[in-house]
Parts: sequence; C-alpha cells; structure tokens
Amino acid sequence: MADCIFCKIIARQIPSQIVYEDEQAVAFKDVSPQAPTHLLIVPRKHVAGLSACGDEDQALLGHLQRVAASVAAKAGVASGYRLVTNNGRSAGQSVDHLHYHLLGGRSLQWPPG
Ligand code: 5GP
Ligand code: ZN
Repeated sequence: MADCIFCKIIARQIPSQIVYEDEQAVAFKDVSPQAPTHLLIVPRKHVAGLSACGDEDQALLGHLQRVAASVAAKAGVASGYRLVTNNGRSAGQSVDHLHYHLLGGRSLQWPPG
C-alpha cells in the first residue's frame, strides 16, 4: 500500500534494521524501543491489523508467531519475552499494517497499561 510506512520498510524504500526476512514475513527493530529487545514482526502482505485478517490468513498468522519465537531465540530472550499486537486506536495501534511487538531483555509488568 502506497502510504504505509511498514510496506515502505519491507520494500526497503526507507531504512530500518531488519533482523530476519523470508517469503512471508519481515522482522526489524522498532525505531523507538520500549525494552532492550524490541522487534516488530510483520507480514509482507499489507493487512491493516488482526481484525482485518480472514480465514485465508490463518497460516500466515501462525507463521508470524513461529518467526517471533525464532527471532526471540536469536536475540537471546527466549527465556522471557512478550508478543503483543495492538488492534485499533484505543489499543494504541498507530501503524495500520499488522505487526507483532516482541519485547524482552527486561522485566515486564502485567497488566500492561
Ligand atoms: P503500534 O503503535 O501501531 O502498535 O506500533 C507501531 C510501532 O512502529 C511503534 O512502536 C513505533 O515506534 C514503530 N515505528 C513507527 N515508525 C517506524 C519506523 O519508521 N521505523 C521503525 N523501525 N519503527 C517504526
Ligand atoms: Zn503496509
């Protein structure tokens, strides 16, 4: 999608620190990290968020979680990390391209604010 910042990152039209990519998914460092490890795992396919996914995205959603576990291990945080997606403005979603935040490297509080 033309105006989507994550589509531009995936297309390497704007710079980012990509730590993993495959045919379906890309993982890169969040520009404003909220933890020592803060990665974003996104599908190459533009979809606005979790609620915009359909039955056809089931395998993709599973793949994104597998990628998250893999990049968590590579980042050295496999023993403790959080995977979260913000869906909708009231939940804090600011970029309308599905993404999972992978947070780790520090103690994480519960419940989140
Ligand atoms: P959301 O608020 O939608 O859940 O998460 C969007 C995330 O994207 C935020 O954590 C924000 O820091 C990150 N972000 C926004 N713009 C950019 C960018 O241009 N590059 C990178 N690497 N991260 C970005
Ligand atoms: Zn997009």
